[in-house]
Amino acid sequence: MADDHTKRRYHPSTLPSGIHVGGKWQPAASGKTVAVNDPSTEMEIARVPDAGLEDAAAAVEAAAKAAPAWAATAPRKRAEILRRCFELMTERAEDLAWLISLENGKALRDARGEVAYAAEFFRWNAEEAVRIQGDFFTAPSGANRIIVDYQPIGICVLITPWNFPAAMATRKIGPALAAGCTVILKPATETPLTAYALAALYEEAGVPPGVVNVLTTTTPGPVTAAMLADPRVRKISFTGSTGVGRTLLAEAAKNVINSSMELGGNAPVIVFDDADIDVAIEGTMIAKMRNAGQACTAANRIYVHSAVYDAFTERLTSRMQALKVGPGTSQDTECGPMITANAVAKIERLVADALQSGAKLLCGGKKPEGKGYFFPPTVLSDVPVKAKMSCEEIFGPVAALSRFETEDEVIARANDTEYGLSAYIFTKDATRGFRVARQLESGMIALNRGLVSDPAAPFGGVKQSGLGREGGTHGIYEFLEAQYIATSI
Ligand code: NAD
Repeated sequence: MADDHTKRRYHPSTLPSGIHVGGKWQPAASGKTVAVNDPSTEMEIARVPDAGLEDAAAAVEAAAKAAPAWAATAPRKRAEILRRCFELMTERAEDLAWLISLENGKALRDARGEVAYAAEFFRWNAEEAVRIQGDFFTAPSGANRIIVDYQPIGICVLITPWNFPAAMATRKIGPALAAGCTVILKPATETPLTAYALAALYEEAGVPPGVVNVLTTTTPGPVTAAMLADPRVRKISFTGSTGVGRTLLAEAAKNVINSSMELGGNAPVIVFDDADIDVAIEGTMIAKMRNAGQACTAANRIYVHSAVYDAFTERLTSRMQALKVGPGTSQDTECGPMITANAVAKIERLVADALQSGAKLLCGGKKPEGKGYFFPPTVLSDVPVKAKMSCEEIFGPVAALSRFETEDEVIARANDTEYGLSAYIFTKDATRGFRVARQLESGMIALNRGLVSDPAAPFGGVKQSGLGREGGTHGIYEFLEAQYIATSI
C-alpha cells in the first residue's frame, strides 16, 4: 500500500497558507496566488500568495518594528533560540526532506543532506552569537586608545534560489539572527513551501514575531526595489544567478545598501595523471550529480589528463548510466527531475550545441517521453572550448569531458571564465595540489574530494561568482557593522 504522505508533519495540505508578516499568516493584499508544481509530475501541489508592493511595505514595517527588541535581546538568549531551531529541524529532518523533494524534485538522499546542512547553520551561528568580539588597543602614536565594536547591520532583505530551498535560506537567516538583525526572506516561487514550513518552525523555537518575515512574489523586481528603497533596509543578501545579481547590485547602489552576492559558477574538475582514479571518480560523481547537477558548485567542465582520459571516461560513463532516474520522493531515486521545462530546454540546447561543435555522446543526451521535467545522466567526451557549455552553467546531469596535457595548460583553461566559485583537483601529489590551488581563480577548492560546502567554512566566490562569504567565522560579519570609538584614555 502506498504511504499516506498527508500524515506527514510537512505536507502541502497542512502547511500554513499566506505570506508571513509580523508573526501572522495572511493572503497577499491583491488576493492573487501562484501555483507550486511537482517537477516529477508537472501537477499543481499548492498555491502560495503572490505578494505585491503593499505586502512588501508591510513586511519592512514588521521587520522594523521587531528590530529594536531583537537587537537588544541578550546574545545568549538569541543563541538558545537558534539552537532550538537546529534541534527542531533535526528532529523533523525526514519530513522536511520529503517536502524539499516534493517541491524541488531532488532525490531524498540529497534532500536529507540538505536538511542536515541547513540545520547546521543554526547550531553554528548559535555558537557564533555569543562570540562577537570587538577590539581595544593602543593607537600607534601612543596618544589614545581605539575601541572597535560590532552592531547589527539593520533590516536585511534575503533572496534565495530554488535549488536548495532550506539551506540557502538558513545560511543567511542563521547569521543574520545571531547578529541581531531582522529579515524579510523572498524565496523562489518554484520552491516556497519549505521556506514557509521553516518560518513556522522558527517561531515555535522562540523567534519573536516580525524577526523573520517571508513573502513570495511573481514580480520580484519591483517588490525588491520597493524594499530596497526604504531607508530602514540596510542589507541585501542574494543567492542566485549572476545576471540577477548584477541587477540587484545596481538597485542596491541607489541607497548604498550593503550587498552580499552568492552567484553562479562554472566549476572545473581537474584530474591529473597521478590521481587515485577511484577517488577521482567518486569525487567527480558527487561534484557533478548532487541535486542532479543543479548546484552552483556543480562540476561544469571536467578536464582529464590524456594518460588517464580513456580509463576515467569509461568508468565515469558506466557510473552515470547506472544511476536510477525517478521522482525525488521515491526512496531509490538517485537523479530526480530538473526544476522546470525551461531548465530541460536549456540543457537540450547546450547538449545539441556541444555535439554540433564536435563533442561525442557516450550516454544519455535525450529527454524521455512522458510527464516530468526529466533529463537522463549524460556524458559528453572531447567537448571543445568553443562549445557553449564551456562557458555557461549547464545546471543539469551532463558531464562534459575534455583532455589536457600540461599543468599550465589546464590552469589557464580552468581560469578562462568570468566565474570563480569552486574548483576540484585530483592528484596524489600534495605539493602539486596546493600549487595548482593557489593559481586557480576560485573562492573554494576541493582537493581530492567532491564536496566543498561546510557550514564551518567560508562559502563564496571570486570574479563574477559573487561578493562576500557565508558560513564559517566570516558569515556573521556580513550582518554586522564595525563601529570605531576613539577615546583619549
Ligand atoms: P535566479 O537568479 O533566477 O533567481 C534567484 C532568486 O532571485 C529567486 O528567488 C528569484 O525569484 C529572484 N529574482 C529573480 N529576478 C529578480 C529580480 N529582478 N529582483 C529580485 N529578485 C529576483 O536563479 P535561480 O535559477 O533560482 O538559481 C540558480 C542560480 O543560482 C544559478 O546561477 C546558481 O549557480 C546560483 N546559485 C548560487 C549559489 C551560491 O552560493 N553561489 C547557490 C545556489 C545557487
